[in-house]
Amino acid sequence: MIRRNTPGTKSAQLNAWPDQELNEMDSCVALQQYIQQLIRKDCSDVKTICQLPEGQDEALWQYEHLRQLTMELNKFVTSFDGICTDKTCFKMKATDEWHYLCAAHKKPKECCAIDYIIHTLDGTAALLNSTKWFPDRVHVPVKSLKYFKSIARRLYRIFAHAYFHHRPIFDEFENETHLCERFVVFCKLYDLVPDSCLIIPPNEFMVNKEYYAYLCATIVSSSAGDEEGGAAPTPAAAAAPAPAPSPASTASTIPLAIPTPSGGGPLDLGASTAMSQSTMGRSVVAEVEQASVPAMPPPPLEGAASTGVGETPAAGMPPPPPPPHEEA
Ligand SMILES: [Zn+2]
Ligand SMILES: [Zn+2]
Repeated sequence: MIRRNTPGTKSAQLNAWPDQELNEMDSCVALQQYIQQLIRKDCSDVKTICQLPEGQDEALWQYEHLRQLTMELNKFVTSFDGICTDKTCFKMKATDEWHYLCAAHKKPKECCAIDYIIHTLDGTAALLNSTKWFPDRVHVPVKSLKYFKSIARRLYRIFAHAYFHHRPIFDEFENETHLCERFVVFCKLYDLVPDSCLIIPPNEFMVNKEYYAYLCATIVSSSAGDEEGGAAPTPAAAAAPAPAPSPASTASTIPLAIPTPSGGGPLDLGASTAMSQSTMGRSVVAEVEQASVPAMPPPPLEGAASTGVGETPAAGMPPPPPPPHEEA
């Protein structure tokens, strides 16, 4: 039996093959097949979908989920067409409290929301498909684990923007796919996004509220200000005045990936997180990118790991950007 959608398959016949147990799957993308099978079976069964199957490698499980979530987010974003535009959303926001700069540029930029979303999805795909950081589908190099948090944190913002600014689109897609619920449960299970950044009220969209409450009660979130996790407004930050059009941020440097998309220049998806400021009650979360930095400190997870552009540590390395880091 061929478990594949061949060209010309009608939509009603897609994926029309019987389910398999994970241990019966012998392809090199077995985990992806298994995750997709679980989603097809019941996309609201977030517990089964997200929990690590016995005997499987957790890093690979997270990697395959991030790939799957990114693919599905691309579908989600098609429903933004004509609704989220540079006119309706000229900044990437989630409520007026959270405002994000796009890290997919030499310098972080105030891309309009739809551009931010597309740049982030493209950059995520480039990173997850980068053979340098993820050379195969059977093992995740330790040095690449550090990207999972920043990927998750940035992707979550797409849901947050949709929820707070385009609620009908969010609700329609969520009712059909439970994508945001799966995403949030996945992030919670593996502590990829700090609680302070999970700003969509869970009771407003989750089906498995009790399960999520259980996770929240049993899994302690990493600190909001950790290097990878970024960025919750702090009382001090909230009190700091800053000029409104120039979000300033206190950057914490993290060495993250600089994947090079095919045919393109370096796209830094792995920028530092930054934080937060407030101006007249508006918190600003900025992403400060590192692409122009010629060399970066070795990643905390593996001292000898290379860091993309500018492999050599140290020489010529400018000091970390002084906080606060001003970005237009
Ligand atoms: Zn929008
Ligand atoms: Zn951008």
